[in-house]
Amino acid sequence: MEQAKNLLRELPSVDRLLKHPSCERLLNRFNREYVTRKCRESLEDLRHGLRQGKSIPSQELQENFILTRIESQIASDGVPKLNRVINATGTLLHTNLGRALLSQAAMEALYRVGGHPVNLEFDLSKGKRGKREEAIEQVLLELTGAEAATVVNNNAAAVLLALNTLADKKEVVVSRGELIEIGGSFRIPEVMAKSGAILKEVGSTNRTHPQDYERGIGKKTALLLKVHTSNYRIVGFSSEVDLAELVAIGKKHKIPVMEDLGSGALIDLSRYGLPKEPVIKERVELGVDIVTFSGDKILGGPQAGLVVGKKVSINRMNQNPLKRALRCGKLTLGTLEATLRLYQQSANITDDIPTLKAFTRALKEIEEMGERLLPLLEKKLGKGFHLTLDDSTSQIGSGALPTEEIPTKVIAIQHHEMGAERIAQMFRLAVPPILGRIKDNRFLLDLRAVFDPGDLIPNLEDRT
Ligand SMILES: *Cc1c(COP(=O)(O)O)cnc(C)c1O
Repeated sequence: MEQAKNLLRELPSVDRLLKHPSCERLLNRFNREYVTRKCRESLEDLRHGLRQGKSIPSQELQENFILTRIESQIASDGVPKLNRVINATGTLLHTNLGRALLSQAAMEALYRVGGHPVNLEFDLSKGKRGKREEAIEQVLLELTGAEAATVVNNNAAAVLLALNTLADKKEVVVSRGELIEIGGSFRIPEVMAKSGAILKEVGSTNRTHPQDYERGIGKKTALLLKVHTSNYRIVGFSSEVDLAELVAIGKKHKIPVMEDLGSGALIDLSRYGLPKEPVIKERVELGVDIVTFSGDKILGGPQAGLVVGKKVSINRMNQNPLKRALRCGKLTLGTLEATLRLYQQSANITDDIPTLKAFTRALKEIEEMGERLLPLLEKKLGKGFHLTLDDSTSQIGSGALPTEEIPTKVIAIQHHEMGAERIAQMFRLAVPPILGRIKDNRFLLDLRAVFDPGDLIPNLEDRT
């Protein structure tokens, strides 16, 4: 106790640390408030340790020693916490891992618009203020055949804005089978409540018929809503009213029809042997008033909510003050425009959009990479591990085509005493972290979305 008291007295003051010659280096590189806080925290830690009776060598209480420790803490503060990981989970569009990767063209746009002034709302030909989304709207109209288009921060925002604009304090008719929740925080009934619209459920969970919508329509009805049940499917004794029928009902009652597609594709994935995800242009052709979909799901662009449809409805959305709160910044608009240009111009879209490249990658190519990787990985992991190259399936993820699976190859890893959880942890702690999945007590690395085999050789050295 007496000794701890003496040691406490030995501790330098914050001021002494700041005036120490080796602190100068820190003060030249980092702001004074920050360095001061680090010094204070470091001293508090030591003081706390001593009071708890922790034995700390008196050498560790010297200014030099304390400052060296502060320096390394500052270095670790400086390492970005939002960081690259390797996605070998087999969920190709993983919401927890940031969904779509940007194309080369979109990355170039990010640098171009991020670091420079841009003509975001400036019409260069007229020399006066211009429209923020002009370029995006043009190319979206071309790609979808719609009359008008707008864009907000994500698809949830698009749904909120559309409901608030078209149905505030009025009723929106939705099938009970489509009152979905997506990833915990987006639930149709809750978004509807926040938008001010009143939910009018019709039909039953597994079956909804045209007469159900007809009966649900009343004096207060402002909108008929169809939601793509993107993350689950009702199978067996089920029926839903398709969009064409719903549009006909809307026309008859002069009520607009909206479809929340969630994912939605600009091209027909079935052309590439993939399951068919609704194509925006085909939905627009059916005469729907509003279609909403995400920018960072199948589209393969930045996080955004895209809205296409009839001019009257979209004009009203653009005039809603909420639009100002939900609008996109230049980083989103620049990367989204670059992505949409690829859809407009690219001779090989499945090569240019990384998301589509992973979806459409030939199994043969995946297998060949697996065969090259297997011995390298065996060598890296060493004794005790057992590796095989197996058949499996990947899924698109983010709600798209939930029940459809794409054939893939996985490297299955087992260890004679370590369980799958431990192996997963070991890969997760590599630099960069490698994320796989566990099935039947085996750790699997799904190869479909990993193009560089070197990414799957874990770098375990840098860890302490
Ligand atoms: C994903 C999804 C949303 C939410 O879209 P975000 O872009 O994540 O905001 C809404 N509706 C459906 C049907 C979806 O699949």
